[in-house]
Amino acid sequence: MNYEVVIGLETHVELSTESKIFCSCGGHSAAKEPNDCVCPACCGMPGMLPVMNKRVVELAVTAGLMLNCNINRYTTFDKKNYYYPDLPCAYQITQLNHPICTNGLVPVKTAAGVREIRIKQIHMEEDAGKLVHGGHSSFVDFNRTSVPLIEIVTQPDFRSAEEVITYLNKLKSMFRSGGISECEEGAMRCDINLSVRPEGSETYGVRTEIKNMSSFEAIERAIRYESQRHIDALEYETEQLVQETRRFDEVSGKTFAMRNKETEADYRYFPDANLMPIVIDDQWLEQIKANKPVALDEKAELYREAGISEKEIAVLLADGKVLKLLDDTVSLGVSPKEAAAWILTDCAGILRKDGKSFDDLVITPEKLSAIIKMVEAGTINRQAGKKVLIAVVEQDADPVAFCKENGLDRKVDSSAIDAIMDRILAENAQAVADFKNGKTKAMQALFGACMRELKGAGDPQMIKEILENKLK
Ligand code: ADP
Ligand code: ZN
Ligand code: MG
Repeated sequence: MNYEVVIGLETHVELSTESKIFCSCGGHSAAKEPNDCVCPACCGMPGMLPVMNKRVVELAVTAGLMLNCNINRYTTFDKKNYYYPDLPCAYQITQLNHPICTNGLVPVKTAAGVREIRIKQIHMEEDAGKLVHGGHSSFVDFNRTSVPLIEIVTQPDFRSAEEVITYLNKLKSMFRSGGISECEEGAMRCDINLSVRPEGSETYGVRTEIKNMSSFEAIERAIRYESQRHIDALEYETEQLVQETRRFDEVSGKTFAMRNKETEADYRYFPDANLMPIVIDDQWLEQIKANKPVALDEKAELYREAGISEKEIAVLLADGKVLKLLDDTVSLGVSPKEAAAWILTDCAGILRKDGKSFDDLVITPEKLSAIIKMVEAGTINRQAGKKVLIAVVEQDADPVAFCKENGLDRKVDSSAIDAIMDRILAENAQAVADFKNGKTKAMQALFGACMRELKGAGDPQMIKEILENKLK
């Protein structure tokens, strides 16, 4: 028999806020040492009270708008009770009854055409801490406790691992470029709910849930393994499928039962009376909408108009980090086409040479725009600009200081070029004669000699014009 795989995803995304969700401790990635971003509130000390971070609401609403959700104007928090050493309060503050967003839709491009994945809901919640196991002891690091998360729950609308990965890449790109989340490894974690059913069947099969997956490669392997396990169970009665929570073991590539699936009752959810309901009024919603980052397809159109090639647009849209660098550089007054060329050709080339990828790129938009502007102003030529770029990408150099230290920013005016050119023409009488006899290539040699003389300084366009005039 042929079987169809049915998958629903619950995706946790850490939000890029400056502080945690209910206290003023530094948010995600602020911590350097274990437990250096903690306070009585996020450690769950008796008597502590949570204070809602407004920015979390705004980012959650923005994510909801990006995923075409309904924004619920009245939203509340609930306590989800369970005990675990990385959860100091013994309950997690999350949303059960009135989540912030519901009923979204995400178009996902697949080989078979566009599939529409329905979003059941997006809710806000706090993250738990981290257990660190070493020697004969285990340690708890509370830095991550109360870091804000959104959890995006889809309907069981995926039919293959490919669709799941395409969807996750799309979220990642949108969230990175929109400043919702950096989505680096570990900041985006999925629970995979999976069942199979005979092709054509209308009812869903027994589902299992694989918890806490963060690498896309592992997600793909887990889906392939688990669907085969389900199919074998149905086809050959190798085992009885039960609804349960499982974990994926990266070494063996297999999933293992962890526990029977908890039901809602197990968590004794109840409204969190320490937090007031949040009401999002028209004015606030309009303000969030006005600040919402431009959607990816609208961006593509803008880039097209700016003369960026389709191939470059595809690379940009697939990588939210690069997209954000481009947009931020453009916002500093560089043309989109120039910025795209410097990022996708020059930066990419340097990274490739060093065996790195865009994920390793650390250049700031300020430094990149400084280089491009120096080139555009003729302070340095493009070749010198490339040298500066290498120093910035590889050693985080300061562009202006680097130019000074290396004598790249010698402003060379036309009279200086004029003098050098006269000398070069006198020294290369043969090349000049060749040119006069119709060998246009000779001009290139003279141009190169002048460029060498100037050691990368001087505007190539100006040099070319002066040379042409003299030869005429
Ligand atoms: P619970 O409340 O038990 O967590 P939900 O209704 O919230 O259940 O669903 C959790 C996730 O499981 C959702 O992403 C949903 O799409 C998915 N899901 C539900 N039923 C199935 C099924 N039979 N097969 C695959 N995924 C499913
Ligand atoms: Zn705190
Ligand atoms: Mg659920």
